[in-house]
Amino acid sequence: MSEPDKNINDLKLLFPEEKIQKKVKELALEIDAVFPENETIFIICVLKGSVMFFTELSKHLKHNVQMEFIRISSYGNETKSSNNMQAIDLTLPDLNNNNVLIVEDIIDTGLTAKFLTDMFKIKHKPKKLLFVTLLNKKCARQTDINPDFYGFEIDDKFVVGYGLDYKGFFRNLPYIGYFPSN
Ligand code: 5GP
Repeated sequence: MSEPDKNINDLKLLFPEEKIQKKVKELALEIDAVFPENETIFIICVLKGSVMFFTELSKHLKHNVQMEFIRISSYGNETKSSNNMQAIDLTLPDLNNNNVLIVEDIIDTGLTAKFLTDMFKIKHKPKKLLFVTLLNKKCARQTDINPDFYGFEIDDKFVVGYGLDYKGFFRNLPYIGYFPSN
């Protein structure tokens, strides 16, 4: 049987569900305001971590959207970015000259965001490419990348919940927290 080696009772709450939902609605308003009216946005979910943020955000966007999913992994089962990006599935339709919004759960070192932004620009040549992340770990950045929109800035903590996992667990939590190291 697979069990987490962390106890959920030790989790320290960082962002409660209501706070996240309020922020997601605000982000949807901001995003709607900058994409051209009456034009479709291709919203790209970066699996698996973005899944909750992505679905919640999509519900509040007023534009027509097409939902697309890619899968990429940089952490494996570790709690530190590995610099070793694994593109698991990058299958996408033709996005040439379209509006694209990449939706991430968290930007940490920024390596994933940089990889994705470069890849989209070179391979897909969108008309407009913007990047939103729910969490922004600015202090951990190893690249010069910055999201166009973000929900919350956080310290260099390993967080879980609302799509973010620890060894595959805790993605289903409706809130975000962290396990103190001692
Ligand atoms: P980056 O390439 O910016 O270092 O990392 C991006 C990816 O690493 C995120 O999409 C996420 O999957 C994972 N990640 C970064 N920080 C955290 C964290 O604090 N908690 C969890 N669960 N995943 C994280």
